[in-house]
Amino acid sequence: MSTDAPVQPGTVYLVGAGPGDRGLMTARSLELVASADVILFDKLIPADALSGARTDAVLIDVGKIGGGKQVPQETTTALLLQHALGGQDVVRLKGGDPFVFGRGGEEAQACAAHGVPFQVVPGVTAGIAASAYAGVPVTQRGLAAAVAFVTGHEDPAKPETQIDWPALAAFPGTLVFYMGVRQLPRIAEQLVLGGRSADEPVAVVERGTYGDQRSIRGTLATIADDAVAAGVKPPSITVIGPVAALHDELSWLDAARPLAGVTVAVTRARAQASTLAARLRALGATVVEAPAISIQPLEVQVPDPREFDLVAFTSPNAVTRFFEGVKDARALAGSTVAAIGPGTARALREHGIVADVVPPRSIAESLVDALAEVPVTRALIPRAEEARDVLPDALEARGAQVVVLPLYRTIAEPLDDEARAGALGATYATFTSASSVRFFHTAAGTLDGPRLVSIGPATSAALRELGYEPHVEAEVHTPDGLVAALVADASA
Ligand code: SAH
Repeated sequence: MSTDAPVQPGTVYLVGAGPGDRGLMTARSLELVASADVILFDKLIPADALSGARTDAVLIDVGKIGGGKQVPQETTTALLLQHALGGQDVVRLKGGDPFVFGRGGEEAQACAAHGVPFQVVPGVTAGIAASAYAGVPVTQRGLAAAVAFVTGHEDPAKPETQIDWPALAAFPGTLVFYMGVRQLPRIAEQLVLGGRSADEPVAVVERGTYGDQRSIRGTLATIADDAVAAGVKPPSITVIGPVAALHDELSWLDAARPLAGVTVAVTRARAQASTLAARLRALGATVVEAPAISIQPLEVQVPDPREFDLVAFTSPNAVTRFFEGVKDARALAGSTVAAIGPGTARALREHGIVADVVPPRSIAESLVDALAEVPVTRALIPRAEEARDVLPDALEARGAQVVVLPLYRTIAEPLDDEARAGALGATYATFTSASSVRFFHTAAGTLDGPRLVSIGPATSAALRELGYEPHVEAEVHTPDGLVAALVADASA
């Protein structure tokens, strides 16, 4: 085969990442992020939008240069074409929707002109999402039968403005301005000049759908001053029309977000952090991921469970790894199955197994007590390599034969300066295992700063060994229990 055969171009995907809340990313966008060779991303994409990307994917920040200026559009377009023409699948990830003030149309035209195949994946645009999160329906029967999205980027005083202000003022419906915070005085003035009532309700929504979203309510007469007084910053949208007043009645976000304004560090392994992080974010928290620990699978043969009358699982990870070796859950039919706690029991249920024994407290000592009346001759204990020997020792002391099956080990992962500073500066740091406490302490050098939240007694003991009293200990020793305890503390 000739080495200089023309390369088949890759596909460019112009993908909307939604307005900021990661939960508003579409299923298709997450799929494409996970499969892309190259991702060119903007500044205004959700935190963690790229967490599902391949480890070998090339990630290019075209939102800013070294925290400063925006990369010029021609450079971005050139990068898109260059990678695609080199045969790679490129995701162009943009805030909101790619075709709403996102220059996605121009990028699509460039692809078309160069024979690069492209697809467009719409996203939830800020004008709809920020309004919705502020309790403002952009259309409403009897109040607004139309909605217009307008760029407020242009200076209305400029003669060459593309915006026909009198026509816009006469528009029979809601006006949603993007990019216009600095132009707010002129926008309001022009609309009133064009015939809109000075009393018309206005809502400005700053950082819509993010954990620290803010809404400012006023009228066309007051909003410019209101916004200055509140110190409104971009990104913000401005909603103008009678529907804006519905915010006063329908703002639902504060009730749904008891952790708004609270920063929470998640120290568990990256592979496990995402559900906890998502749950915290859904409650309004800003999450700092600071994984000081990672999970390394060990290559071991899982013995036939039928040879054991007890199989005792001491972590959800052990369950996951165990069922990579045992494909048919019926192999456990004849054995007593024990789980150290509700999280492990839940992992078993996902494999169709209801644990026979779950102790009241999620620690090995409690499991030993719970097994006191259970006859055991041969026990299998799938677990972490470094787990404590309390359970195997106790079973052996009872005369049972015990096979400990180390399926993975947890290893320390260094923290970069940003993660360390973010975690120590957070309102809370969460710990879901004793090893995450130790590894985090080693990596960060201290636990001073955040309020320390522990999932349960074993984790709290690890904190005390290092001289720290946990500020919060979960009553229910699961990630959900931890979140509930944190919310209770934050609302206290
Ligand atoms: N394509 C994007 C818009 C890009 S223009 C979309 O469809 O949403 C950038 C402007 O969008 C910002 O200046 C701001 O007006 C608005 N914007 C983006 N994200 C926002 C957010 N989370 N909250 C409020 N406004 C936002």
